[in-house]
Amino acid sequence: MADTTQPAFVVLGGGPAGLAAAYKLSQCGWKDVAVLERGSRVGGNAGSFVLDGIPVDFGSHRLHPVCPPPVMADIRRLLGDDLLNRPRHGRIRLRGRWVHFPLKPFDLLTRLPASFIGGVAWDAVRKPFTHDPGPPSFASILERGLGRTICRDFYFPYAQKIWGLAPEALDPEQAKRRVSNSSLGKMVRKVLGALPGMKRPGAGRFFYPRHGYGQISDALSAAAASSGARLHLNTNVTGVTVEDGRVRSVEASVDGQTRVFPCTYVLSTIPVSVLARLVRTAGPVAPLDAVRQLQQRSMVLVYLTLDIDQFTEFDAHYFPETAIRISRLSEPKNYSLTVAPGRTVLCAELPCAQDDPEWSMTEEELGALVVRDLETAGLGPVPHVTRVDTRRLPHAYPLYTKGYREAFDAIDHWVGNISGLVTFGRQGLFAHDNTHHTMAMAYALVDCLGTDGSFDHQSWARARKSFEHHVVED
Ligand SMILES: Cc1cc2nc3c(=O)[nH]c(=O)nc-3n(C[C@H](O)[C@H](O)[C@H](O)COP(=O)(O)OP(=O)(O)OC[C@H]3O[C@@H](n4cnc5c(N)ncnc54)[C@H](O)[C@@H]3O)c2cc1C
Repeated sequence: MADTTQPAFVVLGGGPAGLAAAYKLSQCGWKDVAVLERGSRVGGNAGSFVLDGIPVDFGSHRLHPVCPPPVMADIRRLLGDDLLNRPRHGRIRLRGRWVHFPLKPFDLLTRLPASFIGGVAWDAVRKPFTHDPGPPSFASILERGLGRTICRDFYFPYAQKIWGLAPEALDPEQAKRRVSNSSLGKMVRKVLGALPGMKRPGAGRFFYPRHGYGQISDALSAAAASSGARLHLNTNVTGVTVEDGRVRSVEASVDGQTRVFPCTYVLSTIPVSVLARLVRTAGPVAPLDAVRQLQQRSMVLVYLTLDIDQFTEFDAHYFPETAIRISRLSEPKNYSLTVAPGRTVLCAELPCAQDDPEWSMTEEELGALVVRDLETAGLGPVPHVTRVDTRRLPHAYPLYTKGYREAFDAIDHWVGNISGLVTFGRQGLFAHDNTHHTMAMAYALVDCLGTDGSFDHQSWARARKSFEHHVVED
């Protein structure tokens, strides 16, 4: 039985959110902290692994300079000189032309077709005289803010590809949370912010750990462990037992055996819809209709090793056009500056549903699909591919279909009535959030603990409100 003077914390999930919580708890002197992670490594979607001597991530990952100072200070301290400060150097394919990303004023004016620039200008002029384009949705919010041209050529096809739904079927919240430039004014300010003399601190730059983005999680995990937290890998959470309205223990499967972790608090970063099915309680059962309504978009990552030093000088290519199946291509060597003569790896992101054919394609088929896409995008001929590797993310992006909010709120309310159970992180709060947001959530959660081990629910409710203002950086 857990000792009430020293609460026992069981953290579900060893991604950045769970690890940041374990790190902060152990820094605060809490002795009984266990992290349960079903994978064989930490980092979740923000982890890394090595392919042909080159660290690679699960799709393009960057640490954005808007990272809150307390989180940034810890990452700097933990990574030291391994945290590289890099210029952003990407490209978007728009109407068959390449424009720099982040957007730059001169580049836009010289590279975009005159018809596109004229279309955007005309949208801006007629904006005050246009009516709202239909009932509130991702589509109507963005069309109102950005005009038809940018939406038709960029946001709508890109949204369809990433989320697999027509932009009209997506909740307005998706536009608020996911699109930082949701009006022409904001977009113009951001583009002008690239001009010398008008640069915002950090504009056009990002931080990246020398050994891959997952180095942030590795460092958090090592720091938590050295302060006494216990990390259990290959540990799949299979049940959370609730008695008399309060969490008592977590059950997990380790090498086919069931292990029981008694606890005072369960801090969960696993998908909230998965958690809801795992709770065993004699009290009110989970709202299963709501659980079924919360959907996630999945993603296949296709890694091609090429027998050349560098494929292009760009870190990432973005493909809004629907004729190209992948949404983004990154070249990890251009992030980490890894020295690996005679080879490079490309990472292609292919968003899909788990019942789409792409999810179950073979490596050979996926490799051929990516090569075809790159050739369609004018990036061919693709040099000799020496190896194709793939990874699958079942929970890549939360899907904000219309009505998702009611479903999430119903589950969240049910979870909130279980004493000692707190959900956070990208999967726990069904949010699109960046890594720095999820770490900030973990820090805020630990701040809600009193020295006597009590949890300040009001402070947590206030912190949760503040998370609603998170806007994702790309
Ligand atoms: C393609 C892509 C690109 C991205 N690019 C960026 C970027 O450039 N910058 C940025 O800041 N963010 C980026 N993100 C977001 C970033 O990946 C997330 O913010 C981060 O991973 C969230 O961390 P988390 O700990 O909340 O969740 P996760 O990383 O999802 O971790 C959850 C953990 O729970 C574990 N788990 C699940 N179920 C169980 C179970 N039953 N038992 C035990 N463990 C379980 C999982 O294995 C996982 O390790 C990107 C995301 C994607 C998909």
